[in-house]
Amino acid sequence: MTTKASILVIEDERDIRDLISYNLTREGYSVREADTAEKGLEYLKAHKADIVLLDMMLPGIDGIEALRRIRADKSTAVLPVIMVTARSEDADVVACLELGADDYVSKPFSPRVLVARVRARLRETGREREGDETLPESITSGNVELDGARHEVRVDGKDVFLSATEFALLAFLMKNPSHVFSRQRLIDALHGPGYPVTDRSIDVQVLGLRKKLLSAGDSVETVRGVGYRWKEGRNA
Ligand code: CA
Repeated sequence: MTTKASILVIEDERDIRDLISYNLTREGYSVREADTAEKGLEYLKAHKADIVLLDMMLPGIDGIEALRRIRADKSTAVLPVIMVTARSEDADVVACLELGADDYVSKPFSPRVLVARVRARLRETGREREGDETLPESITSGNVELDGARHEVRVDGKDVFLSATEFALLAFLMKNPSHVFSRQRLIDALHGPGYPVTDRSIDVQVLGLRKKLLSAGDSVETVRGVGYRWKEGRNA
């Protein structure tokens, strides 16, 4: 990759925006700032971003609504989005994950954690490769086709739009059919070891993934007391 990944930061508080910008620019990313969701969404209509950092509490359209619009638009449906939240209420975070946010960072955050999370998301999408080969080739299982190179998933021949994290989760499970993974193992596989995220967030990602996979949703099987696995060979 020769070009720098571009990051859109939507945040109304100037100090926090500056802090985020400063740290990401220093890491070599190209950063674009917007102080309202309206401006950020407008920017995305005309420009390409590799990832969005989206504040939850914004004047006008708030972060949750902005996320909803980003996901509803075909051109940004799978764009990685990390929510930046001042409130640590579970309900908000869960709502965002259910709407397809890929991750979240709670304020106050350490710049190092923020950069690590951005890097992890970019790695998942193949935008940043640091010697890992997480990008799968094409896999077909039952009525589900996953195209790793194009980042596309089809169920019964119809396109399904997954968030970057949902895609990575599905790819990981499909690459290892019938193998049961603990929640912690899945978190390690998706984010790297030692990543601070709760088991509950994997459950939320699985719920979202199942919903989007429609008739193939129950191929992502819960193994009670253990974790999850990809059940192969359905509708074959
Ligand atoms: Ca704010």
